[in-house]
Amino acid sequence: MKASIIAVGTELLFGQTVNTNATYLSENLNHMGFDVMYHFVVGDNPQRLKEKLADAFSDTDLVLLTGGLGPTQDDLTKEMVAEFMGAEMYLDQRVADDLRDFFKKRGGHMAENNYKQAYLPVGCTPLYNASGTAPGFALSKNGKTAICFPGPPRELKWLWEHGARQYLEQLADKKMYYRIIRTIGIGESDLEMLLMPLIDGQTDPTIATYAKEGECTLRVASQRKDSEDAKLATDEMIDRIKELAGKFIYSTDDEDLNEVVVKMLKDKGLLISSAESCTGGGFASSITDVPGASNVLHSSYVTYSEDAKVKMGVPAAVISDYGVVSKETALAMAEALKKHTEADICISVTGYAGPDADPGRDAGEAYIGYVYKEYKGVARVHTNRNDRRWNRNYFVLRMMRTAYMLLSGRADELE
Ligand code: ATP
Ligand code: MG
Repeated sequence: MKASIIAVGTELLFGQTVNTNATYLSENLNHMGFDVMYHFVVGDNPQRLKEKLADAFSDTDLVLLTGGLGPTQDDLTKEMVAEFMGAEMYLDQRVADDLRDFFKKRGGHMAENNYKQAYLPVGCTPLYNASGTAPGFALSKNGKTAICFPGPPRELKWLWEHGARQYLEQLADKKMYYRIIRTIGIGESDLEMLLMPLIDGQTDPTIATYAKEGECTLRVASQRKDSEDAKLATDEMIDRIKELAGKFIYSTDDEDLNEVVVKMLKDKGLLISSAESCTGGGFASSITDVPGASNVLHSSYVTYSEDAKVKMGVPAAVISDYGVVSKETALAMAEALKKHTEADICISVTGYAGPDADPGRDAGEAYIGYVYKEYKGVARVHTNRNDRRWNRNYFVLRMMRTAYMLLSGRADELE
C-alpha cells in the first residue's frame, strides 16, 4: 500500500525544527511494507493543508500527518482532516476526563480552549495519548486512511508504539519481513558486484546495500501475504548471499561487531586486553558498551606518550629505531601487554588520528598489533582521511575486526 506523510508546522518551513517525525514515520512504514511515496511539509495554514491532503490522497491511500493537534488557534490539522474526509466532530468523553484530571493533578486551571483537544472525528479510532494531552486518531473511509499524530517527537513515538502500529498492521495488505546483514572488510561497490547475480533483476526479496562508517550493511526484505512465506524467502536469500559473500559477514541479525566479539569471547571463555595510543581507550570503551563485558575485558592501558609506552615495556630502542607509529612499536606494545595482563588476546594500536602527522607521514595511518596463542602480528591501516573523529572510530573498528578474525580462527587472513 502506498503512503504519504504530511508534516504540519510553520516552524518546519522556517528551518527552526528538523522534520525528524517524517524520518521516523517513513522508516517505520517501510519496515512494515508500506511504500512511502511523498513527504510534504506545510505551514499552519488551513487552505494549503487541504490542498496537500488532496494531493496526497490523489496518489496514495494512506496519509500520516504530524503536528497541529494542540489546543491553540493555529492547530488545525484535525479539523481539516475531518472536513476533507467528510466527518463531523464529537466530544470524546475519555479525552475530556483525562484532560480534566491532568490539569487537576498539576493543580492548574484548565483553559477553555483545551477542550478543543477532546473533539475527534466521528468514526475514528482514537489514539489515546498517555505521554501528552493531545490525542491522535486514525480515520478510514472509502479505502482511504488518515492517521494524525501530535508534533512533539516523544508523543509521536509513544502513539506509534501504543496503537498506530497495531492499527496499520491490520491495514497492511502484505506482511514485511526483513533482516539486516552486517559485513566488514569489503566496500559497498565491491559487495554489490559480488552479489550482482542476486541483486540483478531482484523483485522479492529485495537486497539493498548501505555504507555505514567503515562497514557495509545489507537489508534483505520480503513482502508476502503470509508472514511465514516472507520469512522463508528472506532466509533462503540470506543463504545464497552467504555462499557469495560469507567471509565478509559477521552478523545476519544486525548486531554490532563489538557485541559479536564480546559474545565470542564469552562463549570461548577468553579474556581480552588493549594497549591504546591514538584511540585513547576507544577499543576498551566499545567493549564495555556491551553488557557482560566484565566477563571478557581484563584491562586496557592508554599509553599515549612515548614515556608511557616505554614504562609499559616497549623497548626505547624500538621507538627510536622505527618510530612511535610503526609496525615494530605496535607489536612491542601488544607483547608488553601480554606480559602485564592475564589476557588471552592482546591488541594494541599506534597511529596518526590527524589532522597532523609527523613529517612525511599521513593522518589515518595506524598499526594494530596482536598476540593470541601462537599468533602474533601487525595489521596496517591507512584510511587516507584527515578526519580525526572518523579515523579514531575506524581504528577501533579495525581493532575489533582483528579480535573477530583471531576468534574466528582466521589469523592468516589478517594483513
Ligand atoms: P502541542 O500539543 O504540543 O501543541 P501539536 O500537535 O500542536 O502539539 P505542534 O505545535 O505542531 O504540535 O508542534 C509541537 C512541537 O513538536 C514543535 O515545537 C516541535 O518542537 C515538535 N515538532 C513538530 N513537528 C515536528 C516534526 N515534523 N518533526 C520533529 N519535531 C516536530
Ligand atoms: Mg501546537
